[in-house]
Amino acid sequence: MANSSSRPTAAGRRKAGRHRGEGQWAAGHFTPLNANEQFKKDDDGLNVRTRIETIYSKRGFDSIDPADLRGRMRWWGLYTQRKPGIDGGKTAILEPHELDDEHFMLRIRVDGGRLTVTQLRTIGEISQEFARGTADLTDRQNIQLHWIRIEDVPEIWRRLESVGLSTTEACGDVPRVVLGSPVAGIAADEIIDGTPAIEEIQRRIVGNPAYSNLPRKFKGAVSGSPLLDVVHEINDVAFVGVEHPELGPGFDVWVGGGLSTNPRLGERLGAWASLADVPDVFEAVVGIFRDYGYRRLRNRARLKYLLADWGPDRFRRVLEDEYLLRTLADGPEPTVPAERWRDHIGVHRQRDGRYYVGFASRVGRVDGGTLTKIAELAAQHGSDRLRTTVEQKMLILDVEEDRVEPLREALAALDLQLAPSAFRRGTMACTGIEFCKLAIVETKARGAALVDELERRLPGFDEPITINVNGCPNSCARIQVADIGLKGQLVTDENGEQVEGYQVHLGGGLGLDPGFGRKVRGLKVTAEQLPDYVERVLTRYSAGRAEGERFAQ
Ligand code: SF4
Repeated sequence: MANSSSRPTAAGRRKAGRHRGEGQWAAGHFTPLNANEQFKKDDDGLNVRTRIETIYSKRGFDSIDPADLRGRMRWWGLYTQRKPGIDGGKTAILEPHELDDEHFMLRIRVDGGRLTVTQLRTIGEISQEFARGTADLTDRQNIQLHWIRIEDVPEIWRRLESVGLSTTEACGDVPRVVLGSPVAGIAADEIIDGTPAIEEIQRRIVGNPAYSNLPRKFKGAVSGSPLLDVVHEINDVAFVGVEHPELGPGFDVWVGGGLSTNPRLGERLGAWASLADVPDVFEAVVGIFRDYGYRRLRNRARLKYLLADWGPDRFRRVLEDEYLLRTLADGPEPTVPAERWRDHIGVHRQRDGRYYVGFASRVGRVDGGTLTKIAELAAQHGSDRLRTTVEQKMLILDVEEDRVEPLREALAALDLQLAPSAFRRGTMACTGIEFCKLAIVETKARGAALVDELERRLPGFDEPITINVNGCPNSCARIQVADIGLKGQLVTDENGEQVEGYQVHLGGGLGLDPGFGRKVRGLKVTAEQLPDYVERVLTRYSAGRAEGERFAQ
């Protein structure tokens, strides 16, 4: 909580006055202003675990309290999945309980994207035994399973936790998974390894009741890679590796990014954090969000709205004066890399002389059997470490040079490619209507089919291109920052029928020249027209492109 010695200035009071009633705890607004705030006040989401273990898993789905089912169970990575067969036109019409299936999506958090062979094998086995073989690599380095029965959840937790994994705060209004560079600790060009900071954040923050009731979700990222490989611009707080001229390697601090329906890029605070500072600053930013974040309206509750009102200078002042109780050094901004691909796909030499290999499935869809086989292949080729990426891809680390080629061949036999087409490499898809209750359209199968179709139609296309397929406006697969962003909605076809389709956003990107894609007015394509449309856009771009010009320019 903010300390009482900081008195707001007159200007601050005027500004606060305009936002009186935003539901900020720091302004004394502890009375819940909406149903979500109410259920969080009624009981900490973390407490639902005991009820799952002692009641719900024994008595079955129907015994689950609705406030736990649609609220607190998220604190343990559990969402009810969409009842099969309900079309997207009904998403906004039906009551939540009419959309609920009796099975769950389970999100396993993979902080820093770090996995051992044993951990990946365990996830693969859980998928095959309890999740009908389902498994998706997410664009926040997590792994999600579907078709989970409440009866099996305690056993799944037991197995995950026995190998050091968890689903704690994988969803909900909490500090979610902390993104990390997939090549932390191994890359030859690394500025600084952020892994110790991520581990300390996990130890200090995750599952800590002091931070288990935030206004909304809180996303964090730490990367010391010069490739800026953790989409730092769209996290609530991000730490990006920089070399300070006097203080040496450390991190540039960014806050207030996020996509969804009102996208905003994060801003630099101009502050430099040492490796040891990172957990302190992370904790302080979470504290600011908890205390000052807007709780009245869910759609204004992300940190980005507070930052939009405060600006980075005031945010930094509050951070230092009220939470850290010390000042941070000013620091340089990161150098933006020229590379468009930052996903670590392919074969790369590590700084210890061994190699890491990055490979791609289609749109992050794998399955439990494949995960188990990837784990076995890593072990057979002398590795015990794997990483997930923010592009729904995966890496195997620590491979000796003479094992690279056999590993490449073995992965290819699983249709996991080290040199994928630009389309397979650059296309992501969110969960979509297959399992997501908020979805309006299908995404995964359509994204995979689009990849296949574009490979067939444009075999020579080798420009970096990102195509992000989303099932609704929520932007889980980052609609606004793709070269071609597709937002799922119902559209009218040539016969006047309402069918699945997409609103198109063109020319977004992160890293080099970050910005949001243009929503092309009136440009909506039906799902059926999608391959033709994308082919046309890419063909025109290839034909008219100047030397060195990127898609977004
Ligand atoms: Fe579900 Fe929409 Fe997120 Fe896709 S973007 S996973 S449809 S909420």
